[in-house]
Amino acid sequence: MKNTIRIAVQKSGRLSDASIKLVRECGIDFNKGTGKLKSEATNFSAELLFLRDDDIPGYVADGVADVGIIGENVLVESDQAVTLVQRLGFSKCRLSLAIPKNIDYADISHFQGKDIATSYPKILGNYLSKHNITATIHEISGSVEIAPSIGLADGICDIVSSGSTLLSNGLKEVEVIFKSEAVLIANEQLTQEKQQTLQQLLFRIKSVQAAKKNKYILLNCPNAAVEEIKEILPGMKSPTVMPLATEGWSSIHSVIHEDDFWKVIEHLQQAGAQGILVIPIEKMIL
Ligand code: ATP
Ligand code: ZN
Repeated sequence: MKNTIRIAVQKSGRLSDASIKLVRECGIDFNKGTGKLKSEATNFSAELLFLRDDDIPGYVADGVADVGIIGENVLVESDQAVTLVQRLGFSKCRLSLAIPKNIDYADISHFQGKDIATSYPKILGNYLSKHNITATIHEISGSVEIAPSIGLADGICDIVSSGSTLLSNGLKEVEVIFKSEAVLIANEQLTQEKQQTLQQLLFRIKSVQAAKKNKYILLNCPNAAVEEIKEILPGMKSPTVMPLATEGWSSIHSVIHEDDFWKVIEHLQQAGAQGILVIPIEKMIL
């Protein structure tokens, strides 16, 4: 079908589970048999391609896939011409410079004239030249963190999430050079039909993301407290207020942002709210 989009996701690795979960949360069903490279969605105009993450930007740029889910680090390093459609908020990590932990470090000038091992020569090269540092970059594809201990480099530039891999290799993180998360990318020349399907997908992704950031809240309060509580809980339009069977009491329902959660709860209790329930939202259409 002309409007079917091919969505490339990582076959197996740190992006795979969350990518597949997002597609399923968007209500798109498909069978992912082990070892399968391709799967047709049963209820949406899409086909999933399961690929190595490094290949995804190139395939999307060439139009083999129409859209893809990829780490921003891999996208920027690939230097492929594709459209970044949406940040997805998972697989967050950073690309950092690290050196042996017993070596003193003052600032980035430390790396002047040094040897640095990395799988991200482009991102590192750009960062160093922006800071007027000349260093020798050794591109290696894996196990970058062992390079200093085997005498291959003075430092490394690699993905860090908790820092425990660095620590167990006797390294310390000294500069964060790039912050990454999973992103949705698309081919720059999608047909009108495919563009429409992408917009449907994007609408669903945004609804899933909004739902995760908000909670549904229910509480009971004396009628005298309703006005004050309505001020504390703005809701999507305004809160729902309903009478309780008990005379003089109301039930209030609303939606709150997760960042405001604890602050709001305290205010509500002070205002006289009781029996507060907070419930996750599955989808939220804005
Ligand atoms: P492939 O076999 O597909 O080439 P890979 O080994 O290159 O996989 P992964 O280790 O699965 O890649 O990581 C994929 C992406 O997940 C990385 O490019 C990065 O964006 C993100 N990532 C890497 N490490 C972490 C981490 N510790 N926590 C969260 N996200 C991470
Ligand atoms: Zn990879």
